[in-house]
Amino acid sequence: MELKLYNTLTKRKEIFKPIHGNEVRIYSCGPTVYKDATIGNMRTNVFMDILRRVLKYNGYTLKHVMNITDVGHLVSDADEGEDKMIKSAKEEGKTPLEIAEFYTKRFLKDLKDLNIDMPEIICKATDHIDDMLKFVEELMKKGYAYETSTAIYFDVSKLDEYGVLSGINLEEQKEGARVEVDKEKKNPYDFALWIKAPENHLMKWDSPWGLSYPGWHIECSAMSKKYLGEEFDIHTGGIDLIPTHHENEIAQSKGLTGKNPARFWIHGEYLLINGGKMSKSLGNVYLLSDIIKRGYSPLSYRIFCFSASYRNKLNFTWEAIDASNKALIKLKEAYRKHLEGNDDVQEEIINEFENKFHEAINDDLNMPLAMSIVWEVAKYNLKSKKLANLLLKFDTVLGIKIDELEENKEKIPDEVLELVEKRKQARQDKNWELSDKIRDEINKKGYNIKDQKDGVIIEKL
Ligand code: AMP
Ligand code: ZN
Repeated sequence: MELKLYNTLTKRKEIFKPIHGNEVRIYSCGPTVYKDATIGNMRTNVFMDILRRVLKYNGYTLKHVMNITDVGHLVSDADEGEDKMIKSAKEEGKTPLEIAEFYTKRFLKDLKDLNIDMPEIICKATDHIDDMLKFVEELMKKGYAYETSTAIYFDVSKLDEYGVLSGINLEEQKEGARVEVDKEKKNPYDFALWIKAPENHLMKWDSPWGLSYPGWHIECSAMSKKYLGEEFDIHTGGIDLIPTHHENEIAQSKGLTGKNPARFWIHGEYLLINGGKMSKSLGNVYLLSDIIKRGYSPLSYRIFCFSASYRNKLNFTWEAIDASNKALIKLKEAYRKHLEGNDDVQEEIINEFENKFHEAINDDLNMPLAMSIVWEVAKYNLKSKKLANLLLKFDTVLGIKIDELEENKEKIPDEVLELVEKRKQARQDKNWELSDKIRDEINKKGYNIKDQKDGVIIEKL
């Protein structure tokens, strides 16, 4: 059956065929490990996971690389501001390496909790400084890069075209739509390949241009080329990466090899919170651990993600997570009932369900449609082991561990959650008396709390 995927490069759904026989080579832009990943970041990871699982369902083997950015990603995309890792290290009183290790571990735990099918290769930027340097030196030799007093820049005017993903028109932009940060830059869209380190900069390496550190984009180009070759099948990331990071990856690779590194560029849309942006200032940044702390299975977040196509925005609410958790429990119950059933279900019916499911996932990973078929099977009036087996097969894509019992945990009442928040504030204010009083109130409502380094665990007494 044909697999169709939407390609940001061509702006249409295309039939997918791998370059190298049966092996699909994929590169996914991974996290910058300077803070906790949010459920927004995790939506992008669930999308990456579904792509993997659907490719495997179609019989392909995978060679998939995901990077961990542990250096050189500046606070702004426009090559300005502080290095995110260093900023975080200063704030938390740790070394950049400690920050990176700490948040990498927590990121990987989230992936495990979400039952994400792991990329074959996970690689850190700091382990590939030499590969990046070679890439930049080569670009310099070929005339695609130039040195200023602060950095080595990529010269976008040397390419036949720049902006193929997002459709930027360089001619229109020439009139200086953007404020120049570095007056020595030749073109507004030129970007830093390598940055000369100021005296007190924490992470820096020896290079032909003195002590310096990589620009953000070069790691992905260098590592994808190293592990997947000059041209591979699929490149993924969040939609925000299209206009800067991915355009610049394409530019760097085209400069070096003359090729766009990936045939398919696939991007996941954003998760919204109550219809708007997730932000610290609005106090609505949620982590996967917040979902777990409220007594929900992390797998409920997977089911929640399946309620929209990865190409559409998805709105997060606690009501939706509550409903997804109930759906998770119901699907597992339905699987059990089929497993214990002895009704006779005809082979054609099984095949028809299977085809419909396969068509749905192969139509650009249409998970909402695929889920409607999963529910048809789950709720089928005849109960049969064959249908249980079919659900198990579907679960190779869903990844909800349908054959494992889910603890039917009771939802923690809102009033208890409110008290927990109030106590958190009291502790931040160092008002221990109030904090103890609130703890007593929580106990009276039948719950206990255990303080952890990164929050509290709420248990029923
Ligand atoms: P950030 O931590 O903001 O640099 O985000 C890392 C990556 O996660 C981004 O490049 C996005 O691709 C993805 N991402 C961040 N926020 C969201 C969101 N709300 N929904 C979906 N993906 C997101
Ligand atoms: Zn990248």
